[in-house]
Amino acid sequence: MAASSLLRSLTRRNCAATDAFGHYQHHFRSPFSTAAAQAAAAAGARDEAGTKGGFPGLRPTAKGQKARVVVLGTGWAGSRLMKDIDTNGYDVVCVAPRNHMVFTPLLASTCVGTLEFRSIAEPVARIQPAVSKSPGSYFLLARCTGVDPDNHTIDCETVTDGEKDALEPWKFKVAYDKLVFACGAEASTFGIRGVTDHAIFLREVHHAQEIRRKLLLNLMLSQVPGISENEKRKLLHCVVVGGGPTGVEFSGELSDFIVRDVKQRYSHVKDYIHVTLIEANEILSSFDVRLRQYAVDQLVKSGVRLVRGIVKDVQPNKLILDNGEEVPYGLLVWSTGVGASSFVSPCLFLSHLMEVFNGGRIGVDEWLRVPSVRDVYAIGDCSGFLESTGKEVLPALAQVAERQGKYLARLLNRVMEAGGGHANSKAEIDVGPEFLYRHMGSMATVGRGKALVDLRQSKVG
Ligand SMILES: Cc1cc2nc3c(=O)[nH]c(=O)nc-3n(C[C@H](O)[C@H](O)[C@H](O)COP(=O)(O)OP(=O)(O)OC[C@H]3O[C@@H](n4cnc5c(N)ncnc54)[C@H](O)[C@@H]3O)c2cc1C
Repeated sequence: MAASSLLRSLTRRNCAATDAFGHYQHHFRSPFSTAAAQAAAAAGARDEAGTKGGFPGLRPTAKGQKARVVVLGTGWAGSRLMKDIDTNGYDVVCVAPRNHMVFTPLLASTCVGTLEFRSIAEPVARIQPAVSKSPGSYFLLARCTGVDPDNHTIDCETVTDGEKDALEPWKFKVAYDKLVFACGAEASTFGIRGVTDHAIFLREVHHAQEIRRKLLLNLMLSQVPGISENEKRKLLHCVVVGGGPTGVEFSGELSDFIVRDVKQRYSHVKDYIHVTLIEANEILSSFDVRLRQYAVDQLVKSGVRLVRGIVKDVQPNKLILDNGEEVPYGLLVWSTGVGASSFVSPCLFLSHLMEVFNGGRIGVDEWLRVPSVRDVYAIGDCSGFLESTGKEVLPALAQVAERQGKYLARLLNRVMEAGGGHANSKAEIDVGPEFLYRHMGSMATVGRGKALVDLRQSKVG
């Protein structure tokens, strides 16, 4: 896909992806409009075909046909699985609300223009070309809304972005032989009022685009005559909430941007722009204490103001801390880690069949299978080892997700070669060794070309 069209499609996706798990906003159409009536009829027919018999190519596979692996998600886990799956034996159907994988470790750099957006987004058709070429393999821009493990089908709803003049979203079913949940986690807000409305998360390319847009807009507005000193300071106050690796890296990028770009290109307002990083506990709490101290020193040297506090309320132009302090902001980036996905956590459709890990993750056994249902697997941030495995909870990291994707592709290829690719195939297939995770260490950049690397003992889980 050309870079420009990829970016256009990324921009267009905004509202659906910002609220990737939220309710889709149906447009109101006048009942008197013929075009609307025709569209509604077409949508009705689509719904009927899609949800009853299923669309051709998505119905249950027959013996002699390739088996179908349905992958939910185009993140680190799903993309790696699709890359390695043997498309001579399987058709791959990927269902996700975004058509590309995001190289998340570099997302912060795109917010300030160190990297371009297209450098960190890889279209799924480039990762697994079969989805755009092979009959029977597809990428479907849709969100999975339910699973019927007894009938080996999933329910989906298209993602049309709620765009004016776009097709109404419609529902359809996809039959699977093997189903892989790789649908990630969701940004935590801890239920704090105003976060979703006023803060920007940093998880998707469109978030980075929004941050960049707002930062530049504020810089330009602050130079327009008539703005008061107070307004200028507020507009150029960039607040980051969350002192984990993402918050720290983003604060570092911002302070580099101030030194490198603002001082040259916006020198009239260079003394007004500031970065504040708010953290309830320790900055980079998972890192060794000496590395933490180094990070703090570097951030302070770069001019980042570090505040220890808990955000209680977020209002349009200010947030309130637990000690009552009001912090005005022009840009607010929220990066306090991830929690259970609202798609997975209620597990409405599976709760009677599936054990759900306490963090709201889907419980898996040592081979990443969901033990209580046949032919269902879960990998990446949405999954967690069941307590019965005796294994520790793996962190929500790309290095975990990517390796689980790789492992599961190998397992599924092995199952297919042993004649077990289709749904409900014989149970006694040797699926090989269990998944073992070796932690390779953690890294976080702190700006000014500096980074910390924590290589304490590798962890095996
Ligand atoms: C800014 C940032 C920096 C990071 N840096 C690092 C780092 O340096 N090192 C590291 O190891 N980790 C890092 N991480 C963590 C890492 O990105 C995640 O652990 C990783 O993305 C998890 O992969 P995943 O495939 O499980 O989920 P994701 O990559 O989140 O992908 C989830 C996919 O599921 C799709 N989806 C969601 N809902 C549905 C649905 N209902 N139906 C179908 N599809 C759905 C989404 O659209 C998406 O395609 C970082 C994360 C962020 C946000």
